Amino acid sequence: MSEVFFLSVADMNADSGNKLQTLLECAGIAELTGVVAVKMHMGERNNRTYLKPQFVKPIVEAVKRHGGMPFVTDTTTIYKEKRFTAMDYYETAFAHGFLPSSLGCPVLIADGLKDDGVPVSEHVEIARDIYESDSMLVITHATGHCASTFGGAIKNVAMGCVTKKTKKYQHEVTRPVLNQDLCTGCNKCREVCKHDAISESHIIDPDKCIGCGACIAVCEYGALSTPPDMSCELQKRLAEVASIVIHALPYTNLLYLNFLIDITPFCDCAEFAPEYLCPDIGVLASRDIVALDRASIELIKNFEADPLVQVREAHRLGLGDWDYELIVI
Ligand code: SF4
Ligand code: SF4
Repeated sequence: MSEVFFLSVADMNADSGNKLQTLLECAGIAELTGVVAVKMHMGERNNRTYLKPQFVKPIVEAVKRHGGMPFVTDTTTIYKEKRFTAMDYYETAFAHGFLPSSLGCPVLIADGLKDDGVPVSEHVEIARDIYESDSMLVITHATGHCASTFGGAIKNVAMGCVTKKTKKYQHEVTRPVLNQDLCTGCNKCREVCKHDAISESHIIDPDKCIGCGACIAVCEYGALSTPPDMSCELQKRLAEVASIVIHALPYTNLLYLNFLIDITPFCDCAEFAPEYLCPDIGVLASRDIVALDRASIELIKNFEADPLVQVREAHRLGLGDWDYELIVI
């Protein structure tokens, strides 16, 4: 049974932040040594509910107090928005306040200017700066997710610590399905696709499609739909890739924090919509990614599909214990 430490939202800022420091100490922040990748999502441009730098700064300070050398990091996206290249992402990160001067540590886009990764399996490349660190602290803004139902630490590792090739491998299972009988040939899908993945006869090119779903959203005739069992299949891919990443990293000093605040139905890649799955809950910390995501899901509760598929699969693949003890700080 694994320990999951919990600080309620009411206590997050109480006692001048000392309770957060207690949470970090109990969870084992002292074991993050050497160069520490602080993996997070710094928010897509029109998102407003990403985890703000002021939550990250005291965590960075705690890492430094124990002698670790942190850098805040993430990787570029496969969809063409404002984090598609490292240069795009630096602009977005800085616009969102993720500045070395405000965090107290550098900000590095871990796959660099050329989507650089270390191949560790047929489909998985770990972003180089994450692979070459000595420890990792995975800070996740837990949310719902339009394709995987839940986005927690497993998704942060699987989708966030890898190159575009590996992101695309996971998104293979979200490619739209076309019903030719319903298609009117209006071409709205072709106009919205930024990846030139839809032919004149509206056939989707699997090599070009990244499974973003933009075409489904604009098709007024129901001719495009998500594949059957998409959530289940994507969750299994997330667990598979998270398992490969965690087992292939040349270090085992890993700590996970899930922030359960501003819990939106969609992840921080999505534009802000004033909608929440539930009221703010608090922050959870654990050395066990399975226990942590399971506890987070069971506190949030309010999902339309089963979000535990990824957790069960991650447990089956040896990433952690199914049972946990919730220890309130
Ligand atoms: S948007 Fe829908 S109806 Fe229009 S061309 Fe594309 S698939 Fe066909
Ligand atoms: S999901 Fe649709 S819009 Fe997105 S890349 Fe594939 S074909 Fe293009």
